[in-house]
Amino acid sequence: MLGLSPSAQVQLREFFNVIWVWVKGQRPTFISKAEMKSHFVEHRKAQAEDLEVTDWLRDPPRFTVANPETGSRHLVTCLPDRVVCDCEDYHWQIEFFGKGCCKHGYAALAYLGYDSLHEYQDDHRPLKPEERSGRLEHSGQQLALPVSGAA
Ligand SMILES: [Zn+2]
Repeated sequence: MLGLSPSAQVQLREFFNVIWVWVKGQRPTFISKAEMKSHFVEHRKAQAEDLEVTDWLRDPPRFTVANPETGSRHLVTCLPDRVVCDCEDYHWQIEFFGKGCCKHGYAALAYLGYDSLHEYQDDHRPLKPEERSGRLEHSGQQLALPVSGAA
């Protein structure tokens, strides 16, 4: 979308379901919010690759995500339904879309082995009642797993 390089300067204005975008050196254009989101997801994932993740607390898992180039550090907390960060980008996304994930969040997700926020949420969401009963029925037929450390 837009053929943006990660360093491009961009100005944005929101109008209902579309966003006015002005990229330095190009004509202003309108794009849908959905397009905007998917562009920035890719953009943030690309930026996340340069970040260093330090794992320091469990329950909920928390990480310090640092950018070695700029020296910036942010605290990322992985909750079951979202990945919260203390940076401005995260707060801006919450304000704008009501949900979001910043590059620090993506770095923490990558550290945990997830490729997307969606994948993480799918793994951590509480089971719906029908799924729970389905699992119970199923669990009666499962073989007992060997207890590790018993041997
Ligand atoms: Zn962040």
